[in-house]
Amino acid sequence: MPYLPAGFEVPPFLPHELGFAEGCHLRELRLQCCTDCGRFRQPPAPRCAHCRSNRSDWTAVSGRGEIYTYTIVRHAANPVLREALPYNVVVVLLDGTEGVRLVSNLIDTAPEHIRIGQRVVLHWDIRDAMPLPCFRLDPDVESTHG
Ligand SMILES: [Zn+2]
Repeated sequence: MPYLPAGFEVPPFLPHELGFAEGCHLRELRLQCCTDCGRFRQPPAPRCAHCRSNRSDWTAVSGRGEIYTYTIVRHAANPVLREALPYNVVVVLLDGTEGVRLVSNLIDTAPEHIRIGQRVVLHWDIRDAMPLPCFRLDPDVESTHG
């Protein structure tokens, strides 16, 4: 069951985001990487913000990381999301990416148990047959709350 309600529609992917979508179908978290300067582009963009190159590749990353920040949503701007309240939105700092942060959701964790700095691992949330990256607490790291 997807983290957010079935009626919540994911916006269509833009042409410069298709490498990410292809990775999702293969359950591989891919980040756009500038072919010229080697920096990651997240979110994906047609041009590199550092060197203005329009050339890029897609690089798979582990999907491990830590919670950089998060919020608990208690008022749904989109009526479709009301049944999911309260839900979380986390920003995950991805390992091995020199600072790339991914906006996502953390599953299987009550809002009061989420903390900045917690280690997380990738989990594929299936929405309309499309796997999308979300996260769960790293089971190999001892819990620090409680
Ligand atoms: Zn570049």
